[in-house]
Amino acid sequence: MRPHIRLWIASLYLFIMGTISLAYTLIELVLGVMYESLLIIGDALHGFMDAAIAYVSGFGLYYASRRGRSFPWEVYRLESLVTLLSVLAVLGFYTYMLVTSTRLEGTPTPLWAAPLFLAGAALTYAMYVWERRNYQTLKLTVLKADALHAKVDTILSAGFAAAVCASNFFKLFAAEMIAVIAAYCYVLYEFARLSRDATYGILGVLYRDPALEGKIREKLLSIGKPLNLKIRRAGSFLVVYALIAVSPEMTVGQLHVLRSRIIRSVMKLHPLVVHVDIKIIPKRKARKRAEKQCIHAHM
Ligand SMILES: [Zn+2]
Repeated sequence: MRPHIRLWIASLYLFIMGTISLAYTLIELVLGVMYESLLIIGDALHGFMDAAIAYVSGFGLYYASRRGRSFPWEVYRLESLVTLLSVLAVLGFYTYMLVTSTRLEGTPTPLWAAPLFLAGAALTYAMYVWERRNYQTLKLTVLKADALHAKVDTILSAGFAAAVCASNFFKLFAAEMIAVIAAYCYVLYEFARLSRDATYGILGVLYRDPALEGKIREKLLSIGKPLNLKIRRAGSFLVVYALIAVSPEMTVGQLHVLRSRIIRSVMKLHPLVVHVDIKIIPKRKARKRAEKQCIHAHM
C-alpha cells in the first residue's frame, strides 16, 4: 500500500473514533448531570480528552498524507492550540468537580450505569483490537501508542462497572470514589502526552538525531549536493525538509524519478517520518547564492 494512502486510512479511522468517542461522551455528560453521578461525569470528561487526542493525531496524519504539498504548519498549529486550550478547560472542570464533590458517603450511581460502562469497555476493546491489527499492517507508531491507551481505557471502564455494582450491592460508595480518582490520575497522564504532542505541533520544534540526519544526507547525495536539511516535529510525527543543488544538465524527467526515489527511501529510514519535502535548485544558482552570502558577510 502506498504510504500516503495508509496515512489517509489511519487519519480517517482516528476521526471516526474521535467522533464516536465524542458522541458517547455527550450522552454520558447529560446522564451524569441528571443523576448527579461523579462517576459518570468523570468518565465523560475522560472521553472528551480521548476524542481530542484522536482528533490531534488524525489531523497530523491527514496533513502528512497530502504528499507533494508542504506541511501546513499554520493550520496545524492553530488546531493544536485550540485543542490544547479546550482540553485544559475540561481538565480544570474535572479537577474542580473532584475537589468539590468527593465524599465517602452518598447515593450510589444507578445500576443501569454498569451496562453503560460495559458498553464503553466493549467499544474501547474493539478499538484496541483494530489498532493492534492495523499497527502490524500500517506500521504507524501512533497506532501502537493508541492501542496501549485503548487497553488501559477498557480496564478503566470495566473497573467503573465493577464500582457501580459494589456501591449498589454492598453499599460500598467509596468504591466509586476510588474509581474516579484512579481515572483522574490516568487522565492527567494522558493530558501530559497530549500537551507534549500539541506543543511540538505548535512550535514545529526541530528534531535532533545526528544518526538519522547522516543517513538522510547519504540518500540526498545520490541526486546532488544537500544545502539544507531540517527534521521538524509535527505532533508525534516527523517531517523532513531538504534543499538540494543539482547539476543543471539534469532533465526534469530524471529529477522527478530521482526525487521520488529519495522520498521513498527517506520515509523508510524512520517509522515516524510521515512527510518528505525536497526542494531543488540548479548548482550554478547555489554557487551564486553562496557568493552573495559571502559578500554580505564581508560588508
Ligand atoms: Zn482514555
